[in-house]
Amino acid sequence: MIVNLKEILDIAERQFMAVGAFNTPHLESLRATIGAAEQLNLPVIVQFAQVHESWTPLEYMAPVMIKAAAEAKVPVCVHLDHGETLEYIQKALDLGFTSVMYDGSVLPFEENIANTKKAVAMASIHGASVEAELGSMGKRESGSGDDGGANDNAKKVYTDPEQARQFVTETGITALACSFGTTHGLYKAAPQLNFDIVKDVRRLADNVPVVMHGGSGVSPEDYRKAVAAGVRKINYFTYMDKAGGTAMAGYLESLKSDDPKFFTPISLAGLEAMQKNVADAMKVFALQG
Ligand SMILES: [Zn+2]
Repeated sequence: MIVNLKEILDIAERQFMAVGAFNTPHLESLRATIGAAEQLNLPVIVQFAQVHESWTPLEYMAPVMIKAAAEAKVPVCVHLDHGETLEYIQKALDLGFTSVMYDGSVLPFEENIANTKKAVAMASIHGASVEAELGSMGKRESGSGDDGGANDNAKKVYTDPEQARQFVTETGITALACSFGTTHGLYKAAPQLNFDIVKDVRRLADNVPVVMHGGSGVSPEDYRKAVAAGVRKINYFTYMDKAGGTAMAGYLESLKSDDPKFFTPISLAGLEAMQKNVADAMKVFALQG
């Protein structure tokens, strides 16, 4: 069943959990994610980041994501992750996405507000809802194999809860991505999360659902604290991607040197490992693990 961001976050609010949001720029990651959600009977968000356009064009993946969401036995939201331009957001909405993120976090505050308002107006015509970002997590969503480097910590700007109040009130967004200590990509050291930022944003900005980006590599204990503080959507991709790749490498190693190597069984080994990794993450986000 396909739903928008508002509808799925209302479920998260009622059930006191965070919904997992997994990047699905390939058929294998999409089937792994929906498979895990159906197996656990949990709502889920499948998302495509603008930066993944070079892996698969959005117009190829969008119809497949929407079809899979519509036919799923659980509520599924089809979300654009880190839309950097209003043109790309319009494209996702026209293709049938039920949710979009406008990421104007690198812009001056007033410009971020102005563009986010435009995104909200564009999305509402389609019955879709909008996530936006305030503060900086040090670097943007990127491809695999990047290192969540220590250098990025210097570029982190934590979200100011008072600014968040103004931002949420003026833009009418459905969810706010906050910077409170997470980073995209792999962590070199355990992240130090500031949950007071999340609590203050919720208190000042009318209980807005908070989104955690860079959710891979956070400890189960910190996930639980994040949900308690008001995180309702957790973006998770790097470790599922790593689980899939590791399983594929293991499958290849299990073959004898003169065995033929076929793409299909290798990709299925990756799919199976991603589904298990996603299911484990979803259980923790739903406070079941
Ligand atoms: Zn992100």
